Amino acid sequence: MIYLALDAIFEKHKTPIGHPESPLRIRKIFEEYEKSPLKNKITIVNASKASEEHVMLVHSPDHVEYIKALCRVGGGAITADTNVSEETYDVALYAIGTTIKMAELALKKGEGVYFAAVRPPGHHATKDLSKGFCIFNNIAITAEYLRTHHKINRIVILDFDVHHGDGTQSIFYSDSTVLYISLHQDPRTLYPGTGFPEEVGYGEGEGYTINIPLPPGLSSDGYLRAFSEIVEPIVQQYKPDVILVSAGFDGHHDDTISDMNLQVETYWHLGKKIYSLVKVCSVKAVVSVLEGGYSLKYMPKSLLNYILAPVTSEPVYNEGKLLLLESRKAELRLQRYLNRVRKVLSEYWNLS
Ligand SMILES: [Zn+2]
Repeated sequence: MIYLALDAIFEKHKTPIGHPESPLRIRKIFEEYEKSPLKNKITIVNASKASEEHVMLVHSPDHVEYIKALCRVGGGAITADTNVSEETYDVALYAIGTTIKMAELALKKGEGVYFAAVRPPGHHATKDLSKGFCIFNNIAITAEYLRTHHKINRIVILDFDVHHGDGTQSIFYSDSTVLYISLHQDPRTLYPGTGFPEEVGYGEGEGYTINIPLPPGLSSDGYLRAFSEIVEPIVQQYKPDVILVSAGFDGHHDDTISDMNLQVETYWHLGKKIYSLVKVCSVKAVVSVLEGGYSLKYMPKSLLNYILAPVTSEPVYNEGKLLLLESRKAELRLQRYLNRVRKVLSEYWNLS
Protein backbone atom coordinates (compact mmCIF):
# COMPACT_ATOMS: atom_id res chain seq x y z
CA MET A 1 0.00 0.00 0.00
CA ILE A 2 1.07 3.56 -0.62
CA TYR A 3 0.47 6.16 2.08
CA LEU A 4 0.77 9.81 1.09
CA ALA A 5 0.47 12.44 3.80
CA LEU A 6 -1.03 15.45 2.04
CA ASP A 7 -2.99 18.18 3.77
CA ALA A 8 -4.10 21.74 2.95
CA ILE A 9 -2.59 22.88 6.26
CA PHE A 10 0.78 22.91 4.47
CA GLU A 11 -0.43 25.71 2.20
CA LYS A 12 -0.63 28.04 5.20
CA HIS A 13 3.08 28.79 5.45
CA LYS A 14 3.33 31.84 3.19
CA THR A 15 6.40 33.04 1.32
CA PRO A 16 6.87 36.31 -0.64
CA ILE A 17 5.34 36.56 -4.13
CA GLY A 18 7.58 34.89 -6.71
CA HIS A 19 9.36 32.72 -4.12
CA PRO A 20 9.93 29.21 -5.52
CA GLU A 21 8.99 27.51 -2.23
CA SER A 22 5.34 28.50 -2.43
CA PRO A 23 2.07 27.03 -1.09
CA LEU A 24 1.21 26.20 -4.71
CA ARG A 25 3.59 23.25 -4.51
CA ILE A 26 1.14 21.43 -2.22
CA ARG A 27 -1.88 22.49 -4.34
CA LYS A 28 -0.22 21.08 -7.47
CA ILE A 29 0.50 17.74 -5.77
CA PHE A 30 -3.21 17.55 -4.84
CA GLU A 31 -4.22 18.28 -8.44
CA GLU A 32 -1.86 15.70 -9.93
CA TYR A 33 -2.98 13.10 -7.39
CA GLU A 34 -6.63 13.76 -8.28
CA LYS A 35 -5.86 13.17 -11.96
CA SER A 36 -3.65 10.14 -11.38
CA PRO A 37 -4.73 6.93 -13.12
CA LEU A 38 -3.41 5.04 -10.10
CA LYS A 39 -5.15 7.17 -7.50
CA ASN A 40 -6.86 4.09 -6.07
CA LYS A 41 -3.48 2.68 -5.02
CA ILE A 42 -2.75 5.69 -2.80
CA THR A 43 -4.17 6.29 0.69
CA ILE A 44 -4.14 9.90 1.78
CA VAL A 45 -3.09 10.53 5.39
CA ASN A 46 -4.02 13.74 7.22
CA ALA A 47 -1.48 15.94 8.97
CA SER A 48 -0.67 15.56 12.67
CA LYS A 49 0.79 18.20 14.94
CA ALA A 50 4.03 17.70 16.86
CA SER A 51 4.61 19.10 20.33
CA GLU A 52 7.26 21.67 21.15
CA GLU A 53 9.14 18.90 22.94
CA HIS A 54 9.58 17.17 19.59
CA VAL A 55 11.07 20.27 17.97
CA MET A 56 13.55 20.47 20.83
CA LEU A 57 14.82 16.97 20.16
CA VAL A 58 17.05 18.79 17.66
CA HIS A 59 16.63 22.56 17.93
CA SER A 60 17.70 24.82 20.78
CA PRO A 61 15.00 26.38 23.00
CA ASP A 62 16.28 29.86 22.07
CA HIS A 63 15.85 29.18 18.37
CA VAL A 64 12.36 27.74 18.82
CA GLU A 65 11.40 30.79 20.88
CA TYR A 66 12.78 33.13 18.21
CA ILE A 67 10.72 31.51 15.42
CA LYS A 68 7.62 31.50 17.60
CA ALA A 69 8.04 35.18 18.52
CA LEU A 70 8.60 36.19 14.89
CA CYS A 71 5.37 34.44 13.86
CA ARG A 72 3.51 36.07 16.75
CA VAL A 73 4.29 39.55 15.39
CA GLY A 74 3.01 38.56 11.93
CA GLY A 75 6.17 37.03 10.44
CA GLY A 76 9.34 38.35 8.86
CA ALA A 77 12.62 37.48 7.17
CA ILE A 78 15.17 35.25 8.87
CA THR A 79 17.74 35.22 6.06
CA ALA A 80 17.60 36.69 2.55
CA ASP A 81 15.77 33.65 1.18
CA THR A 82 13.91 32.34 4.24
CA ASN A 83 10.95 33.88 6.03
CA VAL A 84 8.10 33.02 8.35
CA SER A 85 4.49 34.14 8.11
CA GLU A 86 1.99 34.37 10.95
CA GLU A 87 1.05 30.69 10.77
CA THR A 88 4.48 29.24 9.99
CA TYR A 89 5.25 28.03 13.51
CA ASP A 90 2.04 26.00 13.62
CA VAL A 91 2.51 24.67 10.08
CA ALA A 92 6.10 23.69 10.91
CA LEU A 93 4.80 21.71 13.91
CA TYR A 94 2.47 19.91 11.52
CA ALA A 95 5.36 19.18 9.12
CA ILE A 96 7.30 17.55 11.97
CA GLY A 97 4.28 15.76 13.46
CA THR A 98 3.25 14.37 10.09
CA THR A 99 6.73 13.03 9.32
CA ILE A 100 6.82 11.35 12.74
CA LYS A 101 3.31 9.97 12.19
CA MET A 102 4.39 8.40 8.88
CA ALA A 103 7.43 6.85 10.58
CA GLU A 104 5.19 5.39 13.31
CA LEU A 105 2.80 4.07 10.68
CA ALA A 106 5.64 2.54 8.69
CA LEU A 107 7.04 0.81 11.78
CA LYS A 108 3.60 -0.54 12.69
CA LYS A 109 2.60 -1.75 9.24
CA GLY A 110 6.04 -2.64 7.84
CA GLU A 111 6.09 -3.01 4.10
CA GLY A 112 4.69 -0.16 2.04
CA VAL A 113 5.46 3.32 0.81
CA TYR A 114 5.18 6.22 3.25
CA PHE A 115 5.62 9.74 1.92
CA ALA A 116 5.13 12.97 3.90
CA ALA A 117 4.43 15.79 1.42
CA VAL A 118 5.04 18.58 3.90
CA ARG A 119 6.32 22.14 3.87
CA PRO A 120 8.22 24.11 5.01
CA PRO A 121 11.08 21.79 4.04
CA GLY A 122 13.84 21.00 6.53
CA HIS A 123 17.24 19.70 5.43
CA HIS A 124 19.12 23.04 5.52
CA ALA A 125 17.92 23.87 9.06
CA THR A 126 20.59 23.45 11.74
CA LYS A 127 20.13 23.31 15.50
CA ASP A 128 20.17 27.11 15.76
CA LEU A 129 19.41 28.46 12.33
CA SER A 130 16.55 28.39 9.82
CA LYS A 131 17.76 28.95 6.27
CA GLY A 132 17.56 27.73 2.66
CA PHE A 133 13.70 27.86 2.77
CA CYS A 134 13.82 25.51 5.80
CA ILE A 135 12.49 26.31 9.28
CA PHE A 136 12.93 23.15 11.39
CA ASN A 137 14.69 19.98 10.29
CA ASN A 138 11.77 17.55 9.87
CA ILE A 139 13.88 14.51 8.99
CA ALA A 140 16.51 15.04 11.69
CA ILE A 141 13.80 15.41 14.34
CA THR A 142 12.16 12.20 13.09
CA ALA A 143 15.49 10.35 13.30
CA GLU A 144 15.96 11.61 16.87
CA TYR A 145 12.41 10.61 17.69
CA LEU A 146 13.03 7.06 16.42
CA ARG A 147 16.16 6.82 18.53
CA THR A 148 14.59 8.11 21.73
CA HIS A 149 11.10 6.58 21.43
CA HIS A 150 11.84 3.35 19.55
CA LYS A 151 15.50 2.70 20.42
CA ILE A 152 16.40 2.47 16.76
CA ASN A 153 20.12 2.99 16.44
CA ARG A 154 20.87 2.24 12.81
CA ILE A 155 19.28 4.87 10.65
CA VAL A 156 20.20 5.90 7.12
CA ILE A 157 19.17 9.37 5.99
CA LEU A 158 19.32 9.32 2.23
CA ASP A 159 19.13 12.80 0.74
CA PHE A 160 18.52 13.01 -3.01
CA ASP A 161 17.55 16.68 -3.07
CA VAL A 162 19.80 18.51 -5.57
CA HIS A 163 21.21 20.64 -2.73
CA HIS A 164 23.46 19.35 0.02
CA GLY A 165 21.52 18.89 3.29
CA ASP A 166 24.02 20.85 5.35
CA GLY A 167 21.62 21.14 8.31
CA THR A 168 21.07 17.39 8.58
CA GLN A 169 24.78 16.74 8.13
CA SER A 170 25.73 19.14 10.92
CA ILE A 171 23.23 17.60 13.36
CA PHE A 172 24.63 14.07 12.96
CA TYR A 173 28.23 14.87 12.04
CA SER A 174 29.79 13.12 15.06
CA ASP A 175 27.25 10.33 15.27
CA SER A 176 27.58 6.76 13.96
CA THR A 177 23.97 5.77 14.64
CA VAL A 178 22.74 7.95 11.79
CA LEU A 179 24.44 7.47 8.44
CA TYR A 180 23.87 10.55 6.31
CA ILE A 181 24.20 10.06 2.54
CA SER A 182 23.70 12.94 0.12
CA LEU A 183 23.77 13.07 -3.67
CA HIS A 184 23.84 16.68 -4.86
CA GLN A 185 25.05 19.08 -7.49
CA ASP A 186 28.72 20.08 -7.13
CA PRO A 187 28.82 22.50 -4.16
CA ARG A 188 31.18 24.82 -6.07
CA THR A 189 28.22 25.58 -8.32
CA LEU A 190 25.21 25.56 -5.98
CA TYR A 191 23.83 26.59 -2.58
CA PRO A 192 24.80 25.92 0.22
CA GLY A 193 28.39 25.39 -0.97
CA THR A 194 29.09 22.39 1.27
CA GLY A 195 28.98 18.61 0.74
CA PHE A 196 32.48 17.79 -0.53
CA PRO A 197 33.53 14.12 -0.37
CA GLU A 198 36.15 14.98 2.26
CA GLU A 199 33.38 15.94 4.72
CA VAL A 200 33.13 12.45 6.21
CA GLY A 201 32.06 13.05 9.80
CA TYR A 202 33.99 13.62 13.00
CA GLY A 203 34.99 11.56 16.04
CA GLU A 204 32.58 8.64 16.50
CA GLY A 205 30.83 9.80 13.33
CA GLU A 206 33.89 9.60 11.09
CA GLY A 207 32.96 7.64 7.97
CA TYR A 208 29.23 8.04 8.63
CA THR A 209 28.71 11.11 6.46
CA ILE A 210 28.77 10.36 2.76
CA ASN A 211 28.86 13.19 0.24
CA ILE A 212 28.51 12.47 -3.46
CA PRO A 213 28.78 15.69 -5.46
CA LEU A 214 27.77 15.41 -9.11
CA PRO A 215 28.68 17.50 -12.17
CA PRO A 216 26.10 20.12 -13.21
CA GLY A 217 24.17 19.07 -16.31
CA LEU A 218 24.15 15.39 -15.39
CA SER A 219 21.15 13.42 -16.65
CA SER A 220 19.38 10.30 -15.52
CA ASP A 221 21.86 7.57 -16.52
CA GLY A 222 24.83 9.13 -14.78
CA TYR A 223 22.79 9.95 -11.71
CA LEU A 224 21.50 6.40 -11.34
CA ARG A 225 24.98 5.06 -11.93
CA ALA A 226 26.30 7.12 -8.99
CA PHE A 227 23.50 5.69 -6.87
CA SER A 228 24.30 2.08 -7.83
CA GLU A 229 28.05 2.37 -7.47
CA ILE A 230 28.29 4.31 -4.22
CA VAL A 231 24.98 4.44 -2.33
CA GLU A 232 23.85 0.82 -2.73
CA PRO A 233 27.02 -0.91 -1.44
CA ILE A 234 27.32 1.47 1.53
CA VAL A 235 23.70 0.99 2.62
CA GLN A 236 24.10 -2.78 2.26
CA GLN A 237 27.20 -2.73 4.45
CA TYR A 238 25.62 -0.49 7.11
CA LYS A 239 22.45 -2.63 7.36
CA PRO A 240 20.06 0.05 8.63
CA ASP A 241 16.89 -0.70 10.59
CA VAL A 242 15.17 2.34 9.10
CA ILE A 243 15.78 4.47 6.01
CA LEU A 244 14.58 8.06 6.02
CA VAL A 245 14.65 9.78 2.65
CA SER A 246 15.01 13.52 2.11
CA ALA A 247 13.13 13.51 -1.17
CA GLY A 248 13.81 16.67 -3.14
CA PHE A 249 12.81 16.78 -6.77
CA ASP A 250 14.80 19.90 -7.70
CA GLY A 251 17.34 17.96 -9.77
CA HIS A 252 14.73 17.98 -12.55
CA HIS A 253 15.76 19.81 -15.73
CA ASP A 254 12.78 22.18 -15.47
CA ASP A 255 13.81 23.35 -12.01
CA THR A 256 15.09 26.91 -12.28
CA ILE A 257 17.25 27.03 -9.17
CA SER A 258 19.66 24.23 -10.12
CA ASP A 259 21.44 22.86 -13.20
CA MET A 260 20.87 19.10 -13.30
CA ASN A 261 18.97 17.35 -16.07
CA LEU A 262 16.98 14.68 -14.30
CA GLN A 263 13.52 13.75 -15.59
CA VAL A 264 10.30 12.45 -14.10
CA GLU A 265 11.42 8.93 -15.04
CA THR A 266 14.61 9.32 -12.98
CA TYR A 267 12.52 9.45 -9.81
CA TRP A 268 10.67 6.28 -10.76
CA HIS A 269 14.02 4.48 -11.18
CA LEU A 270 15.21 5.96 -7.90
CA GLY A 271 12.07 4.68 -6.17
CA LYS A 272 12.66 1.22 -7.64
CA LYS A 273 16.25 1.22 -6.47
CA ILE A 274 15.49 2.42 -2.95
CA TYR A 275 12.67 -0.08 -2.44
CA SER A 276 14.72 -3.00 -3.71
CA LEU A 277 17.52 -1.97 -1.32
CA VAL A 278 14.94 -2.10 1.45
CA LYS A 279 14.23 -5.73 0.58
CA VAL A 280 17.90 -6.73 0.31
CA CYS A 281 18.74 -5.15 3.69
CA SER A 282 15.55 -6.26 5.53
CA VAL A 283 14.86 -2.69 6.56
CA LYS A 284 11.96 -2.34 9.03
CA ALA A 285 10.63 0.89 7.56
CA VAL A 286 11.34 3.47 4.90
CA VAL A 287 9.81 6.93 5.11
CA SER A 288 10.28 9.76 2.65
CA VAL A 289 9.74 13.44 3.31
CA LEU A 290 9.45 16.23 0.78
CA GLU A 291 12.32 18.70 0.63
CA GLY A 292 12.79 20.75 -2.58
CA GLY A 293 11.29 20.53 -6.05
CA TYR A 294 10.12 23.80 -7.55
CA SER A 295 8.91 22.95 -11.02
CA LEU A 296 5.15 23.15 -10.53
CA LYS A 297 4.70 21.20 -13.74
CA TYR A 298 7.07 18.32 -13.08
CA MET A 299 7.61 18.07 -9.30
CA PRO A 300 4.19 16.45 -8.64
CA LYS A 301 4.71 13.95 -11.48
CA SER A 302 8.21 13.17 -10.22
CA LEU A 303 6.80 12.61 -6.73
CA LEU A 304 4.03 10.32 -7.95
CA ASN A 305 6.46 8.38 -10.16
CA TYR A 306 8.67 7.90 -7.09
CA ILE A 307 5.95 6.65 -4.73
CA LEU A 308 4.29 4.47 -7.38
CA ALA A 309 7.56 2.77 -8.39
CA PRO A 310 7.19 -0.28 -6.13
CA VAL A 311 3.76 -1.14 -7.60
CA THR A 312 4.39 -0.38 -11.29
CA SER A 313 6.49 -2.11 -13.93
CA GLU A 314 7.26 1.10 -15.80
CA PRO A 315 7.14 4.85 -15.06
CA VAL A 316 3.61 6.25 -14.86
CA TYR A 317 4.77 9.59 -16.31
CA ASN A 318 7.28 9.80 -19.16
CA GLU A 319 9.14 12.59 -20.88
CA GLY A 320 11.27 10.55 -23.28
CA LYS A 321 15.03 10.66 -23.29
CA LEU A 322 16.69 14.08 -23.30
CA LEU A 323 19.68 14.36 -25.61
CA LEU A 324 21.64 17.34 -24.40
CA LEU A 325 25.23 18.16 -25.21
CA GLU A 326 25.79 19.45 -21.67
CA SER A 327 24.61 16.11 -20.28
CA ARG A 328 27.07 14.25 -22.50
CA LYS A 329 29.85 16.47 -21.17
CA ALA A 330 28.68 15.93 -17.59
CA GLU A 331 28.66 12.14 -18.09
CA LEU A 332 32.28 12.33 -19.19
CA ARG A 333 33.19 14.30 -16.06
CA LEU A 334 31.26 11.94 -13.77
CA GLN A 335 34.06 9.35 -13.64
CA ARG A 336 36.42 11.90 -12.10
CA TYR A 337 33.82 12.85 -9.50
CA LEU A 338 33.15 9.23 -8.55
CA ASN A 339 36.87 8.43 -8.38
CA ARG A 340 37.35 11.17 -5.82
CA VAL A 341 34.40 9.93 -3.74
CA ARG A 342 35.71 6.36 -3.88
CA LYS A 343 39.20 7.41 -2.91
CA VAL A 344 37.98 9.20 0.22
CA LEU A 345 35.40 6.62 1.26
CA SER A 346 37.45 3.47 0.63
CA GLU A 347 39.01 4.07 4.03
CA TYR A 348 35.62 3.32 5.62
CA TRP A 349 33.63 1.27 3.10
CA ASN A 350 34.23 -1.45 0.55
CA LEU A 351 33.52 0.16 -2.81
CA SER A 352 35.40 -2.19 -5.12
ZN1 LIG B 1 16.88 21.53 -2.79
